[in-house]
Amino acid sequence: MAIKKIVTVPDPILRKHAKKVTAFDKDLQRLVNDMMQTLHDASGAGLAAPQIGVSQRIIVLSINENQCTTELAIINPEVVKRKGERVCKEGCLSIPGYIGEIKRSAEVKVKGCDVYGKEIKIKGQGFLGQALEHEIDHLNGVLYVDHLESQDKLKRLEPESEEDAEEETSEE
Ligand SMILES: [Zn+2]
Repeated sequence: MAIKKIVTVPDPILRKHAKKVTAFDKDLQRLVNDMMQTLHDASGAGLAAPQIGVSQRIIVLSINENQCTTELAIINPEVVKRKGERVCKEGCLSIPGYIGEIKRSAEVKVKGCDVYGKEIKIKGQGFLGQALEHEIDHLNGVLYVDHLESQDKLKRLEPESEEDAEEETSEE
């Protein structure tokens, strides 16, 4: 396993439509493990393969919500259903130092595969739903800043104290 360098804007790979995964092999498992390790190292909530320079349809999530941690990897994920709308604050590991206020779905249903190619379906609300939409957007070359209604919804983060940095878990 290895921690990879996280690509930041304006790297063009973040704007590419990522390729569908067709081989569910050892290389894929290794890549997913690297992504999860990179995510943990960055204390993030989610990571998409293009963020480590690999233009393939893979996302990993590590969500802490209601004292419970959800960790998962989804290959070739797609949103099959969206319900409702909510306003939320969002950041991105590829856009360090900023946080924005955007609208996301209240609930999403996502279909994809696990690392072995077995179909999985997941329903996400709240922060999990937000993270799913955010990471799947990455696979389509979309960044959260594209959803800003206006530039004043984007804030630059003040340099944080250690204590504040630990509380901040919304970067994806
Ligand atoms: Zn992101």
